[in-house]
Amino acid sequence: MNASVTSPSSARDRSQHRVSIVGAGKVGSTLAQRVAEKNLADVVLLDVVEGWPQGVALDLMQARGLEGHDRQILGTNDYADTAGSDLVVITAGRPRTPGMDRNDLIKTNAAIVVEAAKRSIEYSPEAIIIVVTNPLDVMAYVAWKGTQLPPHRVIGMAGVLDSARLQTFISLELGVSTQDVQAMVLGNHGQQMISLPRYCTVKGIPLPDWLDAESIDRLVDRTRNGGTEIVELMQRGGAYFAPASSIYTMVESILADRSRVVSAAAYLQGEYALEDLFLGVPCRLGRSGVEQIIELSLTEDECQAVIDAAASVRENIEAAQKILGWS
Ligand code: NAD
Repeated sequence: MNASVTSPSSARDRSQHRVSIVGAGKVGSTLAQRVAEKNLADVVLLDVVEGWPQGVALDLMQARGLEGHDRQILGTNDYADTAGSDLVVITAGRPRTPGMDRNDLIKTNAAIVVEAAKRSIEYSPEAIIIVVTNPLDVMAYVAWKGTQLPPHRVIGMAGVLDSARLQTFISLELGVSTQDVQAMVLGNHGQQMISLPRYCTVKGIPLPDWLDAESIDRLVDRTRNGGTEIVELMQRGGAYFAPASSIYTMVESILADRSRVVSAAAYLQGEYALEDLFLGVPCRLGRSGVEQIIELSLTEDECQAVIDAAASVRENIEAAQKILGWS
């Protein structure tokens, strides 16, 4: 045979985006699968456990022919292999077990997240970082402070997931397609989560026109405890399919510059009258990260809920800074 040979990479006509995922556990490996199988980017999976990310990557590579893509998926324990990433997703650290609050994870996860963010930026100085590790709002803050990146390049994932959970519960309650439901959840990723029924719609019609206040409260409450409900059912770790889909939505909006408006934890500099913390707010996500923070007009009660959520996040940021020896 005399056919000319092109290397697999030069034969590719799609964009050459590279996404690194630090933490190849349940959330990280499910995200790797989504990113590769939707043909969005090549993936580097990094984990502290030797052999584990290499095994996950090989398993995903062996599905390429069946899933119809040629994306490269590399497993590694070495940050040098993440060099040149457009985007780094940090899922490294421990998940909750039954009976645990997300804030119980500060002690274990703060140092892991700071190290992951700093080492990643050393090799990919232009990358945008999406933080997923819990407690999310606090971990986004320490990743930002540890790297000193411009704030628009560090984003926490939680609001997309919390909104997707509320969207699901609304669609199940009303028996309508999830596609026709828009849900909006702000605040922190925990008990001070703020669902905004006034800003939830079904085909453009506000939720309060569909359901009475008691039913809405029930759905809001289930959303607030959405993660806990799954942890208690699974007993060995937490949710990962919907979290991975939520991260994927953000990754795609950034890499494909889609300008999706989603709820995400962003660094606030006066928005909602708050400063120097990460909190879930509506954001426009594009190629440079957080391109706009949208300030909703809120009722007095909703404003108070934002203040309460911020106070809780601040308290835990202080705790994390003490653990890290920053204060
Ligand atoms: P997991 O235990 O399955 O995976 C975590 C991985 O991190 C493990 O493979 C572990 O070896 C790795 N790791 C630990 N220390 C590391 C280090 N220093 N460097 C690199 N890798 C390291 O957990 P999971 O279910 O994938 O969850 C991961 C994190 O994401 C948890 O903190 C969880 O609470 C959080 N989470 C957040 C959301 C959200 O909405 N923000 C949703 C789901 C999970």
